[in-house]
Amino acid sequence: MFYCPACKSQEIYPVAGGYIGQVYLCKDCGYRGSFVLEIDDEDCHGKTERNKKDKT
Ligand SMILES: [Zn+2]
Repeated sequence: MFYCPACKSQEIYPVAGGYIGQVYLCKDCGYRGSFVLEIDDEDCHGKTERNKKDKT
């Protein structure tokens, strides 16, 4: 599950990466970039993940 770092929307989708790697596009605010917020499961509602780097 991914969140938009700009507006916290879940309406964010991976788009074709090209030469800079994976890029995500936010459907709500138009944010586009390689950095997104990620949560591991839906039980984490209310928990704000920031700059989470280690993926288990
Ligand atoms: Zn957004």
